[in-house]
Amino acid sequence: MSLTTPYDAQNIFAQIIRGDAPCYKLYEDDDVLAFLDLFPQSFGHTLVIPKRSAACNILDVDTEALAKVMAVVQKLTRVIVDELQPDGVQVAQFNGAPAGQTVFHIHVHIVPRYSGEGLGIHAAGKADPAELEELQARLQQRIATQA
Ligand code: AMP
Repeated sequence: MSLTTPYDAQNIFAQIIRGDAPCYKLYEDDDVLAFLDLFPQSFGHTLVIPKRSAACNILDVDTEALAKVMAVVQKLTRVIVDELQPDGVQVAQFNGAPAGQTVFHIHVHIVPRYSGEGLGIHAAGKADPAELEELQARLQQRIATQA
């Protein structure tokens, strides 16, 4: 996938937005959706995506949609840090396969980091569904009181 490959409406995040594929949803409004990464690189790895923008990456997303995504990224980063108490947090966004992008609907990663724990392999090991459900409930509860 190059930086100029056209948007594919069958990508997995487009399916999640349409409700055609499941996700461990944390937050949704008219413009933005956030859910747990299914192949987390750390405990609490979260993805934030625009719902109305058929954009592959940062080059083709409209600025207003990107701004709305980043506002949610900041809110959820605060929630995740407060609830999970990591020692650091990475906020990352990849553009094009050579840069590490594997799903071609623009998204921002929130990856909590814990001292002494390395980063899991990108988009590799699938998380235990029970663990994701428990984490989802925990973060949703914190969002309801804080975000
Ligand atoms: P990137 O490599 O930056 O395109 O990130 C895509 C992310 O989506 C990776 O971290 C994957 O683990 C994650 N991912 C892929 N499929 C799903 C899915 N169905 N639900 C949640 N996360 C997913």
